[in-house]
Amino acid sequence: MPRLAARVGRIDSSGIRRVFDLARSLKDPINLSIGQPDFPVAAPVKLAAIKAITEEKNTYTQTQGIPELRAHVIADEKAFTGRDYAQDQVLITSGVSGGLFLALLALVDDGDEVIVPDPYFVMYKHLVNLFGGKPVYLDTYDSAFGIDPDRLEKLITPKTKLLLLNSPANPTGRIVPEDQLKGIARVCAKHNITIISDEIYRLFAYTQMRSIAQYHDSTLVLVGHSKTFGMTGWRLGYAAGPADIVQAMTKVQQYSFVCAPSMVQYAALACPQVDHTGNLAAYQRKRDLMVGILSKKFELAPPDGAFYLWAKAPRGLTGDQFVDLAIKHNMLIIPGSVFSERATHFRICYTVPDERLKAGAELLCRLADAG
Ligand code: PMP
Repeated sequence: MPRLAARVGRIDSSGIRRVFDLARSLKDPINLSIGQPDFPVAAPVKLAAIKAITEEKNTYTQTQGIPELRAHVIADEKAFTGRDYAQDQVLITSGVSGGLFLALLALVDDGDEVIVPDPYFVMYKHLVNLFGGKPVYLDTYDSAFGIDPDRLEKLITPKTKLLLLNSPANPTGRIVPEDQLKGIARVCAKHNITIISDEIYRLFAYTQMRSIAQYHDSTLVLVGHSKTFGMTGWRLGYAAGPADIVQAMTKVQQYSFVCAPSMVQYAALACPQVDHTGNLAAYQRKRDLMVGILSKKFELAPPDGAFYLWAKAPRGLTGDQFVDLAIKHNMLIIPGSVFSERATHFRICYTVPDERLKAGAELLCRLADAG
């Protein structure tokens, strides 16, 4: 009898692990691989965390999260999407990863099909497989990484249960425009499909960003504090959506994560004091800098949000071959095959100081010419 459960054999972390293993072997590389912001946690949030710890807010909280934080979430969602959620429609999670894990565990039965626009955030494919579902990829390369509602409809079968949407997207930085959102909502309403909308980058939007929750009732929105507040290690996020889904997720959280970290939940009450505009402007400027340099040598999908750039490997190389070449020149980027069923592209994260970024962009251009 095999020791390990069959379900873990269905997932694989080799692609991204290979890059991070290589990262450890390089000395002071130009590292454009890590998907996290480079600004510190704002002082009021740090102080609120310290205060929570010293005031003994160190115990379990309610599984669904502290009511004060859920009240903030309800107000934020009302402001962002216009939707009114009751307290039992909100669950505080351990990051968006925690939300994705609980949502897919609560929704995916063996053999259920989950439509995943390709390229995709790496976790989607593996979590769907882990829980016995079948990812069905909606290729977006020929639609400028947007979502064509007619193509979406063609993929729907009686087994289709969910659509996993991510806008602004990792790895492309694309925002799904309003007309496409309306088309997606029309198709999903017609076929009774629930949408999980990963909006972790919703505040890193350089053009207008709307949520599918505005157009489609049966939407579970996942939002996180990791990127917006530079606190990826603190593990906080939330889910908001239909009460039956949120209740099922809450039940599973009770027997798994129990609750999101208590002091972090209290610290997040200070997040509304943080002014995000400076960080947003800085990343928009970095995006412009990178697009300006790289578009001379690479085929790019200019990003409207998040902090990634998705480019085609030059000279007919695969993304993996180009990444190997970059690593030989002490630079780290991620091969597109980690995020896609195709292997033609690579991903850059541009949350690094300008000088490094410029050096990185110039090196990439030289590598595009070489050979
Ligand atoms: N969704 C997307 C699209 C992401 O890029 C990430 C982080 N890279 C996550 C979810 C997970 O974020 P966290 O668990 O830190 O909230």
